[in-house]
Amino acid sequence: MKVLKFGGTSVGTVESLANVKAIVEGIDEPVIVVVSALGGLTDKLIATANMAAAADDTYKEEYERIVTRHNDIISGVVPQHLQGEVHTIVDPLLKELGDVYLGISLLQDLSPRTLDRVVSFGERLSSVIISRMIEGAIHFNSPDFIYTDSRHGRHVLDDEESLPRIKEVFTSTTFTRAIVPGFIARDRKGRFTNLGRGGSDYTAAILAAALDAHTLEIWTDVDGFMTADPRILPDAHVIDRLSFVEAMELCNFGAKVIYPPTIYPVFHKGIPIYIKNTFRPWVPGTCISDAEGNRQHRHMSGVTSLKDIHVVTVSAVKGTELAAHRGRMVNLLSRNGVTIYNLVNDSAINSFRFAVRGADVDRALDTLNNEYAPELQTGEISGIEVSDSLTMIAIVGDNLQQSAEEMWRRVNAMLADNAIVPHALSEGSSATTLSFVVEKAQEHQALRLLHDMYLKF
Ligand code: ADP
Ligand code: ASP
Ligand code: MG
Repeated sequence: MKVLKFGGTSVGTVESLANVKAIVEGIDEPVIVVVSALGGLTDKLIATANMAAAADDTYKEEYERIVTRHNDIISGVVPQHLQGEVHTIVDPLLKELGDVYLGISLLQDLSPRTLDRVVSFGERLSSVIISRMIEGAIHFNSPDFIYTDSRHGRHVLDDEESLPRIKEVFTSTTFTRAIVPGFIARDRKGRFTNLGRGGSDYTAAILAAALDAHTLEIWTDVDGFMTADPRILPDAHVIDRLSFVEAMELCNFGAKVIYPPTIYPVFHKGIPIYIKNTFRPWVPGTCISDAEGNRQHRHMSGVTSLKDIHVVTVSAVKGTELAAHRGRMVNLLSRNGVTIYNLVNDSAINSFRFAVRGADVDRALDTLNNEYAPELQTGEISGIEVSDSLTMIAIVGDNLQQSAEEMWRRVNAMLADNAIVPHALSEGSSATTLSFVVEKAQEHQALRLLHDMYLKF
């Protein structure tokens, strides 16, 4: 059995859905097919909710467009004799969405919980339509077996609840083609939640790992995992093989092609991931695996960038032993759900720096200021400062391990030659990544320089 995931870019139009149908129906073994909302729909659902909350009545026109788009897709892809049945499910869902929008506009209030409900419609609608488009398919409802908990204000997978349920649901029903909505889940109170933006990849990985699939395929609109974001560097090229760690690092450092939490569950089970193009299914794509023979022979694998990064600088007076504080701070922040990048020491001025994402910066500062109030009071810690929004650049490759020092020197020199002053430069924790932080305006130049130096054909 294998698991396939088709993203919004693959399920956006009648034409692309015809490709999805041909790909799935061409497979002669049991498959689980995880689908996203119609391309761009999740953004549209959110924007329309914000309009309704702002008492902007044009939300009604946006809502009507959402209805029309689904109706057009149904008439374009679902066989005529099944269209009536699809409408008996889709029409009440669309009506419910309209009611939710009306509620938002009357109250002029949009809580995170209501927004979770709004975005759930995307995958609930698309999965029903696609399940009637593909021959012999059965629809499975992921909120019946994917549960989330809330941690630090975010939804996280509740694997204790989910894994047994997944096994139970998929072993008690015989199927050859199972269609599953990605992204959406439920909390213990039964309310709709989700796995975060881009989370359909993660749904597919959770199912592949729980059910011991032999392969996970992520179908999208590019020929594979590329050496850089092709929208930034048009000469980026497809990487045919990646190790799990390389793929994890590239995704954690901003490669948008896979949602970062996706890789861990399948890595843990040794299930290979293939990145494939829905519009050119004959192209081999990228294989992510640690299997013998899957090693890259190139020196480096790819470059990435992550926007909205802030550098936090912690300084101490002379004589304060910073190393102990550093360890305590790192533990404290990670217990509070803050991810730290690029921890570097500046022993000359008794300080250290690390980078955090914009979404974490307030939590990081509140946590440190609370916990370190006594030391800040006495002056033992002389300051905790945070930079403006910057961009982190990373270059990733398993082979970095053998040549990290040499590479550091070369990258530093190259940045200096090009008047780029990195705010923080460090090896990643896995020794597979070299990363540094630059001004926003220098992002493209830094990516270009690194790509030309290490990844050009
Ligand atoms: P989907 O709707 O299939 O989930 P996404 O938009 O999430 O698609 O991801 C695919 C897009 O990711 C591609 O269209 C590409 O522009 C972008 N992308 C960014 N970085 C990379 C990279 N390193 N390799 C491939 N694609 C990338
Ligand atoms: N539809 C969701 C999103 O746009 C999930 C996904 O596409 O993976 O974020
Ligand atoms: Mg995606």
